[in-house]
Amino acid sequence: MLKVTILDGYVDEPTCLGVPPYISPYPRYIAGAIWNYDSFAQIFYVTIDQIRNNNSLIEDLSKSDIVVVVAGMSVPGRYLSGFPASPNEIKNIMEKLSKPVKILTGPAARYGFGIAGGKKTRDTSIVKDVFDIIAQGDGETIVYDFLKNNMSLEEINPQECRRSAKDVRDFAIKGASIVKQHPFYPNYLITEIETYRGCPRSIVGGCSFCSEPSKGPSDFRPIEDVVDEIKTLYERGVRHFRLGNQPCIFSYMSKDAGSVEFPRPNPDALEQLFSGIRRVAPSLGTLHIDNANPGVLARFPVECKKIAKTIIKYHTSGDVAAFGVESADPVVIKKNNLKASADEVLIAVKLLNEIGSKRGFNGMPELLPGLNFVFGLDGESKSTYELNYEFLKNILDQDLLLRRINLRQIIPIPGTKMYQTGNRIMLKNKYVFQRFKRKVREGIERPMLKRLLPSGTVLTNIFTEKYDGKLTFGRQLGSYPLLVGVPGVHMLNNFLDVKVVDYGYRSITAVPFPMNINSVPRETLQAIPGIGEKRALRVLANRPFKNEKQLIDSLDDVDIAHKILEYVSFNP
Ligand code: SF4
Repeated sequence: MLKVTILDGYVDEPTCLGVPPYISPYPRYIAGAIWNYDSFAQIFYVTIDQIRNNNSLIEDLSKSDIVVVVAGMSVPGRYLSGFPASPNEIKNIMEKLSKPVKILTGPAARYGFGIAGGKKTRDTSIVKDVFDIIAQGDGETIVYDFLKNNMSLEEINPQECRRSAKDVRDFAIKGASIVKQHPFYPNYLITEIETYRGCPRSIVGGCSFCSEPSKGPSDFRPIEDVVDEIKTLYERGVRHFRLGNQPCIFSYMSKDAGSVEFPRPNPDALEQLFSGIRRVAPSLGTLHIDNANPGVLARFPVECKKIAKTIIKYHTSGDVAAFGVESADPVVIKKNNLKASADEVLIAVKLLNEIGSKRGFNGMPELLPGLNFVFGLDGESKSTYELNYEFLKNILDQDLLLRRINLRQIIPIPGTKMYQTGNRIMLKNKYVFQRFKRKVREGIERPMLKRLLPSGTVLTNIFTEKYDGKLTFGRQLGSYPLLVGVPGVHMLNNFLDVKVVDYGYRSITAVPFPMNINSVPRETLQAIPGIGEKRALRVLANRPFKNEKQLIDSLDDVDIAHKILEYVSFNP
């Protein structure tokens, strides 16, 4: 029996995320390609974190006929539940395997290994001796061809790509079952769904730093293919989905994509897509989007308002449309062929605020913009930082909401225009960037968070992921979930409802809601506004309480006691 291991080293690209809690389409399509060739093949899916935690798993890998590694970070990210595999890590594991044929796939194979923002990618020469195939084309196509050719390495073209988006239909459906082997399955796993690849702006060269134009003109997956894939995933127990694998969800199925830079959006297609998903996955827990081109929203407000309303009708709240702003400086915009001017981005921000700022069932606004900036681009100067700050301040002063501001340093990727420039500008402006980041955290992000989630707001279904001392960190499931610090040690891998009590720069502090006054730890009690350390100790000394009166009587200040009552329950 054919035995294959898929080692997920995680991917993070401008248009695709596969770091837990996300699983990208890459391992799913590859599993589908294998099962399409041999429905009895035994496929073992393992993540790099599972190997980091249990080295003996390498033993299992060594018994496989083929090991396929999926890896590559081409945009820098901040991660809580996993970190992309480094080239050295992968090399060390592969060196221990003698029997299997080893194949590297994903952005690492195509562009090299991104290490961190501001640093050039590391080419694959470091791992070339430990892999038999570095699949620079589409991993699933190459794996399928390799199997069809009786595993003959001579027959393989490592550049081989799918001919059209329709080619992945069977692979996507057949590979859906692999999600059951993901350690986050089923409750905390988000499946990243591809709707198309290739940026419409590739006809004018695309943005100077972006790898997406290298994938050619937009190639849309048919609506029924996407819906059928989600149906299969749903039948396998998946409840969380993000339509994140495309350059701009508002441009999906645009009729004139391929002939114009900013194609007119197709609201009917989006209605069919979203309603179709809801029809086949009626009790889904998360349905979110990711990238949106603000230049499209600014040019086609009527169509885009219609699409935003459609998304809100079918999605789950707390959704984010990530706008690639990159810079508000006209010099940088021109030199790097960026997609929108500062004025156009502002129009797009206003449009989404108008349609999406209402608070939804989980406590978060329905659909808000997130803004991505990239630093280290050609033409960048000190005044770029000033213009970017003014732009953000203007949004704040206009009482608009942003869900997030992402300030990234460029990773120069081979094949892009910025690869020649490399990290020269980033290095020159390193300290300006750090100062700017601090200024934005303090002057924009913190006040924006307070506006977004006023104290006392209840957020539901925070999944607890990690401890830092006596602080428990968790997030809601979804696109760009907000980091929530819950004082006290609370059970991990558990869902909590919380009430907001305080703010960091990019996170909030919240306490479980309602909080069981008779069992909650001191650190949690102390975080309730007004309670302080002494009163918290007094509450602990007088527990258990049967009712409100007993609690009020135990405290020295009736007003504060009533404030505390807004947070607590009296379960034994
Ligand atoms: S608009 Fe620019 S950043 Fe976005 S996918 Fe196209 S080329 Fe890349």
